[in-house]
Amino acid sequence: MRGNAENSPTGLSIVVPIYNEEENVPPLYDRVTAALAGTGIDYELILVDDGSSDGSFMLLKQLAEKDQRVKVIRFRRNFGQTAAMAAGFGVARGRVVVPMDGDLQNDPADIPMLLAKIDEGYDVVSGWRKDRQDTFINRRLPSIIANGLISRMTGVHLHDYGCTLKAYRREVLDGVNLYGEMHRFVPALASQVGARVAELPVRHHPRLHGTSKYGISRTTRVVLDLMTVKFLLSYSTKPIQLFGKWGIYTILAGFATGSLTLWMKLFEGMSMNRNPLLILTAFLLFGGVQFIALGLLGEVNARTYHESQGKPIYVVREKINLGEG
Ligand code: UDP
Ligand code: MG
Repeated sequence: MRGNAENSPTGLSIVVPIYNEEENVPPLYDRVTAALAGTGIDYELILVDDGSSDGSFMLLKQLAEKDQRVKVIRFRRNFGQTAAMAAGFGVARGRVVVPMDGDLQNDPADIPMLLAKIDEGYDVVSGWRKDRQDTFINRRLPSIIANGLISRMTGVHLHDYGCTLKAYRREVLDGVNLYGEMHRFVPALASQVGARVAELPVRHHPRLHGTSKYGISRTTRVVLDLMTVKFLLSYSTKPIQLFGKWGIYTILAGFATGSLTLWMKLFEGMSMNRNPLLILTAFLLFGGVQFIALGLLGEVNARTYHESQGKPIYVVREKINLGEG
């Protein structure tokens, strides 16, 4: 499924998700071409049409016909930005893979700088939109909160996880399966397996044409995905260890209050009728068992998760300049 960098002369794969960006596609192509012309960098531009209903696909097709470096994947329907990026990563043949937004909020002119940073020995270089051109209340503010949370919970400290413009050594992406809003957590997941991660300020512009495909609802999805990532980072193999530990503590606490209750009944003649200690004991013992059961369920789930990693999160309708079908 993955490309083959060793046999490939291609140095760089740029991956761009496209969802109803017909006005942005031509300038995107022009600016990528201009940014890399004369740099000597050998590249492919992978454009993933995520179920656009406007003329985007026709434009992608035309570009691919006149320029063999343009590769196109067309989804059957809209599967989301992360799925589109995952599809692009899957066919990327470059030594370095650079994802980017299709609305020119990211600047293709920053790509050579990211590559230079990779050449310093980093595996992941993450763009930092230091001067972010989005509205404050519904975009930048939720991001500030999300970035703080992600930084704390993953232990990988970046200023701006959500920036699409990043550069990855391709090996880094090989073991990573993306879904939901997960693309922003790749640096954290990669760092867990030893990748060296750097952050670099990049330019950021207002959307060239059209409107954003997202509202504030994305924030809740990001936070929920963060919990999943935290779980994957910490307990992916052994949820039973996490819940089981608390289950055992809870049961021990139940034994303690149970012994106390028994002692008070036997030696102090305490009534058991509506006795709060008795209720607490029952609650702790029962709760402890629940925790352990939850851990076991989590364990089974984690295994299923790992075993089902090959499951596709998108369906491809057609491919252009990418070999068969
Ligand atoms: N996108 C996509 N599928 C979607 C939503 C967005 O492929 O379901 C693409 C979109 O075409 C753009 C990129 O993802 O290239 C970022 O989307 P957008 O600019 O709307 O997000 P924002 O910049 O507002 O975060
Ligand atoms: Mg945008």
